Amino acid sequence: QIAFLNGDFLPLEEAKISTQDRGFLFGDGIYEVIPVFQKKLFQLDAHLDRLRKSLTAISMQDPYSDEQWKALLNDLVNRHPWNDQFIYLQVTRGIQWVRDHTPDKDLTPTIYAYCNPLKPVSESILQNGIKIVTLEDIRWLRCDIKATTLLPNVMMKIAAKEQGADDAILIGRDGQISEGTASNVFIVKDEVLLTPPLSDRILPGITRMIIEKIANDHSIKVIEQTLTLADLEAADEIWLTSSTKDALPVCLLNNAPVGSGKPGPIWLKMQSYFAQAKHSLMQA
Ligand code: PMP
Repeated sequence: QIAFLNGDFLPLEEAKISTQDRGFLFGDGIYEVIPVFQKKLFQLDAHLDRLRKSLTAISMQDPYSDEQWKALLNDLVNRHPWNDQFIYLQVTRGIQWVRDHTPDKDLTPTIYAYCNPLKPVSESILQNGIKIVTLEDIRWLRCDIKATTLLPNVMMKIAAKEQGADDAILIGRDGQISEGTASNVFIVKDEVLLTPPLSDRILPGITRMIIEKIANDHSIKVIEQTLTLADLEAADEIWLTSSTKDALPVCLLNNAPVGSGKPGPIWLKMQSYFAQAKHSLMQA
């Protein structure tokens, strides 16, 4: 496997960063995960746009132009044998020798990317869905930034697994559903697709955006509105969406079946629309 680090391509095991990197010491950085299908980067412009928004939010500049990103990421992808892969890409504020929360001026950002093979979602999940518990959302109030600081997400994932679930749907202290630990939430109620509106409580998921677009193209009504546990409990279908898994059907919520207890008809339709759309939405 090959990594990209600060302008160079090198074997993944040889990629090293300084212990003084602010990404390591403070979690002072942002990231993206970009899926690649048939060697083509999916929705690259949307990912680069979100990357830039995350950087702006933490007062950093994008180190590269879109053209530079496109060239280097395509180069990285083409150094690997897999048709379907995903790119992990991280930019941190860089190396600082004297400890200070305040970043030094003119730091050189650390830019890192590597690829993993993209595994298809298992047949058993496609047939039977996943198990979810609801947990209190213990994160900060800037979840719209794709920050590398993922400790709460890791803790909530561990807590979900300890309860015998695959993942968790997070609920704020005010009772509003935010998202999954690494995904956005949709519910289907009476054939209408509902999802929480964009805010500082959720990541603006690229998959969320695509699903809304596909739904519009196929006359499935989408409403962005705040959702509560009661909405989840009354839902006909629940989905979790993310770049590496598309939409996953949730069939058990806090040990109770969701709808029929099997992946629902709207999800099945969306699966086939999504597969069709992948071809037209892909870019070189
Ligand atoms: N929310 C969170 C917290 C995530 O980590 C992710 C996955 N990166 C998402 C939502 C889904 O975003 P996307 O569809 O862009 O992968």
